[in-house]
Amino acid sequence: MMLTQGRAFAAQRPAVQQRRMAVRANVARVPQVNAAAVEAKPDWAGLAAEMDNKSPLEIMDHALKTFGNDVAIAFSGAEDVALIEYAHLTGRPYRVFSLDTGRLNPETYQLFDAVEKHYKIRIEYTFPEAQEVMDLVRAKGLYSFYEDGHTECCRIRKVKPLRKQLKVYKAWITGQRKDQSPGTRTEVPVVQVDPVFEGVTGGPGSLIKYNPLSNMTSAEVWNFLRVMKVPTNKLHNCGYISIGCEPCTRPVLPNQAEREGRWWWEDAAAKECGLHSGNIKKADGTTEERKAERDLWPAGSAVATLSKDEVRALAAGERSQGTLAVLYAPWCPFCQAMEANFEELAKHMTGHKVRVAKYQADIDREFCNENLQLKTFPTIVYLPPNSKQVIKYPSERRDVDTLSMWVKTVAGQ
Ligand code: SF4
Repeated sequence: MMLTQGRAFAAQRPAVQQRRMAVRANVARVPQVNAAAVEAKPDWAGLAAEMDNKSPLEIMDHALKTFGNDVAIAFSGAEDVALIEYAHLTGRPYRVFSLDTGRLNPETYQLFDAVEKHYKIRIEYTFPEAQEVMDLVRAKGLYSFYEDGHTECCRIRKVKPLRKQLKVYKAWITGQRKDQSPGTRTEVPVVQVDPVFEGVTGGPGSLIKYNPLSNMTSAEVWNFLRVMKVPTNKLHNCGYISIGCEPCTRPVLPNQAEREGRWWWEDAAAKECGLHSGNIKKADGTTEERKAERDLWPAGSAVATLSKDEVRALAAGERSQGTLAVLYAPWCPFCQAMEANFEELAKHMTGHKVRVAKYQADIDREFCNENLQLKTFPTIVYLPPNSKQVIKYPSERRDVDTLSMWVKTVAGQ
């Protein structure tokens, strides 16, 4: 594979080179881990804390300097092209790999080509096992994921090839950002021991994962891409934010959450806290119910607490007023993330004849599943007065304005 030498290419672009020289001067300040330290299992959590305020360029430089040819950038064909630009700016050799699922948009393939030419690199593509794809498509057709969920197809076309590809590295570099998953912000450190995949030496802890964009917002990434004149996916001009496979990605409307453009037909089940995620798998293979450190909307909150009896009465249609209820689990990070907004909404709805309430549904799942359309945490429902109707909030947006607009609409106010 041909590896880019950033400095040679920069000579063709003097303005860009000046920027590179300026940013490279800062890289020397980053704490370094040498090869011997890597063998000695460094304290990656400590390093992550130490590097948390470092720039993406510094973090990228750390990855490339520490792991050399044993680290690669995972490139999806979307805004994570910023990673390649940062690697290029370091002036160090770098590797890029991408998963070609066979179902990508033409615009994504065009971007791959543009990126290869722009940076004078070859992307290391990896493909799914042909036999497995054939077996799936012959048995279930080309669009089985619309019928029975995306997990099986993703496992064959994405997860298995990724697992196989990562087995040749000691570390990889991803475009994960904290602002992509507000409910799990703390789970994207700038560097970590990969909790899922294994590297070339095999076994847990054998792969390091860098997330240099972790602390950047989407707006900052886009500012960077524009300033550096980086090639981008044309689909971004058509309302796409997150870009994956063609049948499973759609554009989102202004102000809609990024994740609503992916696997939208699945009612968010696989994207959020599915009903079984309340169970923690223990080392012996058994499970135990997940416990939360504290309840959400505790005493003194403007959000009313529904009892089990009240919920059964509401489900039976005994309603003197409309109720907006969140079915939640206190341990669920997505429920935790909406706590402040729902509290504000409850205060905002005072005087609107709609009661804003909560019900801890993880301890009453079966009933809520059958009677209140619970599928994931959190589920938000409006229960109109004098009715058995259950109207489920259809969006993943949980800001006060959107929730307020929706509830006033369905409540006819
Ligand atoms: Fe299959 Fe869709 Fe997953 Fe792509 S995103 S691997 S097409 S289910």
